Amino acid sequence: MWVRVLGSAAGGGSPQWNCGCEVCAAVRSGAARPRTQSSIAVSVDRQKWFLFNASPDVHQQIESSGLQALTQRESPVQAVLLTDAELDHTLGLLLLREAPSLRLYATPAVHKTLRDGSGLLSLLERYCSVEWTPVLPGADFSLTEGLFCRAFDVKTTKKDRFGVGVDHGRVVGYRLTDESSGRTMIYLPGAQSLPSDLNADCLLIDGTCWQEDELIRLGLLAKTSREMGHLPVQESLGPLAQLHQRTIYLHLNNTNPILLEGTPERRAVERSGLEVAGDGLEVEV
Ligand SMILES: [Zn+2]
Ligand SMILES: [Zn+2]
Repeated sequence: MWVRVLGSAAGGGSPQWNCGCEVCAAVRSGAARPRTQSSIAVSVDRQKWFLFNASPDVHQQIESSGLQALTQRESPVQAVLLTDAELDHTLGLLLLREAPSLRLYATPAVHKTLRDGSGLLSLLERYCSVEWTPVLPGADFSLTEGLFCRAFDVKTTKKDRFGVGVDHGRVVGYRLTDESSGRTMIYLPGAQSLPSDLNADCLLIDGTCWQEDELIRLGLLAKTSREMGHLPVQESLGPLAQLHQRTIYLHLNNTNPILLEGTPERRAVERSGLEVAGDGLEVEV
């Protein structure tokens, strides 16, 4: 199967419009590469693609990653699967409203938040029909011929900002299996702690912050990385290196020093044999 990283940054992207941190400044000066907001596309035939999360940058991502429609109104994008209801993962749904019908995979909890919390789904449904397939954590389902998918619950104590109050299935990761090769990958852009089973041929995982108090130190936000639902890289690095499998950090916040080549933090990731995703990275699993 193939995975394309459409966007490797966390919410806000890199640079973020109202941020002048070291990384954002480096991107603006041309010393570091820009990154759009978090999303990947997966395919087993490189023709039909499935988006995991729909970022506010989805138009640009589709155009720059070869996912444009080649014939009239026939998009390679088959469906969107959601890991949670965060705006940086769902705002892009509104930008796909020209679809006559949009196939959406989300847990009942995420669906409820999109309808009753952010209201994003109710708005979208005024423009196009949404074909929702409920995703039940732990249950296998077939996305397309030869591609199996299973969501798993991610434990989180992060508060649901929309207050609709359903916990089970509020944040999930996805395990994908290519039926013909048996190869597997995991997509987990939000992990407050590491789930017990992360064994896969390729793991794409939360690299939002380098350290627990990153945003507090920079005076940007009075919240720890964990309080935002993200285990810092400094703490996940050791356990992930022990897995001895291809592991790529993504969902990178623009304050994270691993975004800059040559920093001690980036070198620590590389020394551990782990990778840092950039936009446009394609991985054959
Ligand atoms: Zn996010
Ligand atoms: Zn910044």
